[in-house]
Amino acid sequence: MSNKPIIWNYGGGKQTAAIAVLIRQGVLPRPERIVMADTGRECKTTFEYLENYMRPLLHEVGCEVEVIPHSFSKQDLYYINKNKEESQLPVIPTWTRQNGEVGKMRTFCSGFWKRDVVRDWLLLPEQGYGRKNPVIQWIGFSLDEISRCKDSDVQWREHHYPLIWGYNVRMTRQECVDLVLNYGLPEPPKSRCWMCGEQNNEEWRDVQSRPDEWQKAVELDYEIRSRDESNAVYLHFSGVPLIEADLSDKPKRELSLFQYDQMTCSEGCWT
Ligand code: SF4
Repeated sequence: MSNKPIIWNYGGGKQTAAIAVLIRQGVLPRPERIVMADTGRECKTTFEYLENYMRPLLHEVGCEVEVIPHSFSKQDLYYINKNKEESQLPVIPTWTRQNGEVGKMRTFCSGFWKRDVVRDWLLLPEQGYGRKNPVIQWIGFSLDEISRCKDSDVQWREHHYPLIWGYNVRMTRQECVDLVLNYGLPEPPKSRCWMCGEQNNEEWRDVQSRPDEWQKAVELDYEIRSRDESNAVYLHFSGVPLIEADLSDKPKRELSLFQYDQMTCSEGCWT
């Protein structure tokens, strides 16, 4: 194994908690830095779990989680080009309805809000990483998400997937949960943004259980439609306004649409 410094992209969910336990158990090496790019819209359950369980656990082995604020991102909800023009559509996962069919729009948020933020932060002179000090970057995908893995786009940053290869660990999402529970910690939340269009109905109901996040999601759902010429962009996969969406387990379509291995994001959301 290379002796480059390990930078762990802290995702905040189930795989993340398993990696923390594995570090505590000495199965995985201690990373040099643990960094979390805050999207500014993360479900509050992610931060509660971080503060209540992950920080104390990692502190025992001398590790701290550094949270990079969303203000560090060069892009927010709507893409701004070089001419300072703002895009009509948001960069987050959304759905559109055309001729009665619902399809998913292209998504850019995790790249802008996570990949680019961590890259730019590591390149700050005071952090000291880059071409002269290349790094291994851990991303916490589990074995069932292997299709989300991809090579780094820069030479100084090598992607490693510690739950899949390189450390004699091969774990599925469920095995991560089992490990964390067996260690004596509560089940970690699914880390994600409260308005993420990748959410299934169980996850939307979870957001609904936190009225402030639900209200913001409903308002954003209206906002993205009001900016769109076709007035046909939605946060919910059924292609209807979020406030009207059937959030029961009845809709069958989500079962085929929301397999995690179909997620295109490769920057560590939902880990
Ligand atoms: S959780 Fe969803 S909305 Fe948030 S950054 Fe990831 S893909 Fe985008």
